[in-house]
Amino acid sequence: MTKFVVVMGGVISGVGKGITTASLGKIIKEYGYKTTLIKVDPYINYDAGTLRPTEHGEVWVTDDGGEIDQDLGNYERFMNQDMPKKNNMTTGQVYKSVIDRERQGGYLGATVQFIPHIPQEIVRRIKLAAEGYDVAIIEIGGTVGDSENIPFLFAAKMLEQELGQESVAYVLVTYLPIPANVQEMKTKPTQQAIKMLREEGIFPDFIVCRAEKEVDDVRKKKIAASSFVRTEHIFSAPDVASIYLVPEHLEQEEFGQKLLTRLHLTPRQKPNWTAWNDLVNKMVHPKSTISVAIVGKYISLGDYTIADSYLSIDQALKHAGAALDVGVEVTWLDAQRFEQDPSRLQELEEYDGVLVPGGFGASGIEGKIAAIHYVRTHNIPYLGICYGLQLACVEYARAVCGLRAAHTTEVDQNTPYPIIDILSTQKQVLAEHRYGGSMRLGAYPAILKKDSIVEGLYQQTGRLVEDEPKVAQYAREHSLTFSADDEVILERHRHRYEVNPAYVDQLQEKGLVFSGYYQRPDDTRLMEFIELPGHPYFVATQAHPEFKSRLGNPSPLFFGFVRACKERIR
Ligand code: GLN
Repeated sequence: MTKFVVVMGGVISGVGKGITTASLGKIIKEYGYKTTLIKVDPYINYDAGTLRPTEHGEVWVTDDGGEIDQDLGNYERFMNQDMPKKNNMTTGQVYKSVIDRERQGGYLGATVQFIPHIPQEIVRRIKLAAEGYDVAIIEIGGTVGDSENIPFLFAAKMLEQELGQESVAYVLVTYLPIPANVQEMKTKPTQQAIKMLREEGIFPDFIVCRAEKEVDDVRKKKIAASSFVRTEHIFSAPDVASIYLVPEHLEQEEFGQKLLTRLHLTPRQKPNWTAWNDLVNKMVHPKSTISVAIVGKYISLGDYTIADSYLSIDQALKHAGAALDVGVEVTWLDAQRFEQDPSRLQELEEYDGVLVPGGFGASGIEGKIAAIHYVRTHNIPYLGICYGLQLACVEYARAVCGLRAAHTTEVDQNTPYPIIDILSTQKQVLAEHRYGGSMRLGAYPAILKKDSIVEGLYQQTGRLVEDEPKVAQYAREHSLTFSADDEVILERHRHRYEVNPAYVDQLQEKGLVFSGYYQRPDDTRLMEFIELPGHPYFVATQAHPEFKSRLGNPSPLFFGFVRACKERIR
């Protein structure tokens, strides 16, 4: 029978519930238990696909095409495990299921009510995601005291009632501020969060105290006295140099062992943290550091500037850095700066490599194209992700193929040379304003070009997956065929536009190498990778390989990029 751990947040949002959940998952997995992580998002949106990244961080994409809050990304990165979209639920999905079921006569004349039908549906979904696992850790989004949280907390109690107390444990992740004027760590907001939780019938078993500094025994005792939680179940979780240090930190206070005991479980194996700690150590204390510029959209929200929507790219660079024993320092450059003043392109010389990430719309586009032109012609390593591939093709068409007015139809619908265009099947969807379904989403298999740079990188990092059952299954479902010597890889996608098949030959004749493609069932080949032989590193992909990068299992293209950057500093 599956055991459940419910992680909730107190006092403020952004307190670190996601990292705590991911760390607990990693710890329990290390003790030999098959573990999965589930994220509950209390908003009404059906999924995160239409959320503004500036408010919610980047949209995470799962193998099975789910568009999800970025927490699932941390889960995968910590667990080195693919998480399907059923591991995330939103209030919108829950209500939609209940209403759809009601319309189909699924409630047989009953009055369908908030209690019990909504929590029942939540429990059903939790069980579905937890099926086949020993332990499932559920993170409840939002903060204790939010009205939106109530049905999810109620569902946790239902689960507890059904399975017994020994099968459900509660973890509260809270925040202890140190106000500047008093310079003392305050426990009051935490006490209040615990009180609010009690109003929902939940008594936390463990409290994780997030703070700028370590939480001392005096304060632990104070929290213990007011919450009836044992002092040794109160954990100090200060800010640390890397999120990947958090599991080790929690293990110093034997969280794993205590959690297992609470769930009436005993360790199945002795955790082995050697490889993990070695990588984290390389990340935190690198021997040398490369400097990477990410040329993207500058995102400001009120008085604050946010780079969070490229979180996974930042992580993928760090994972590659850890594998290559080099630190990665990232600078975010607003593409518009190059439009306003092209002489600033020379600033790119200061970096060991330049990356153009995914993006949508027209803002900063000419700046990005100018930056790509500069790095291509000045031998600066380049990695293009999604829009970064599309714009690299536009740049190449303009500068090398002589198609001066080449563009993507996302920006210029009347361009005479639509190098990047929307396919006719997608056009139909967009015409009907079905934005929530117009993208190529999730994992698609690509067939790599033999002896290409890209193929070499996938081979070196052990990422060729032709034997993987997933590929075989995918091929069956989509009536695709791979021949025995095809080098197949899987990467995730989230985009509408494609390299226009009509221009592939022309670009190729002028030296741009397309090093991988996805073959649609109708035989159209969609280009997935480009590369330039002879350049220190000029590689781009239509996919989002950052979503499959994990600590200890870096993404091939990031690995190649960071290695090229490292060679440049040498
Ligand atoms: N805007 C481009 C498209 O929709 C690229 C998307 C992306 O970079 N994720 O195809």
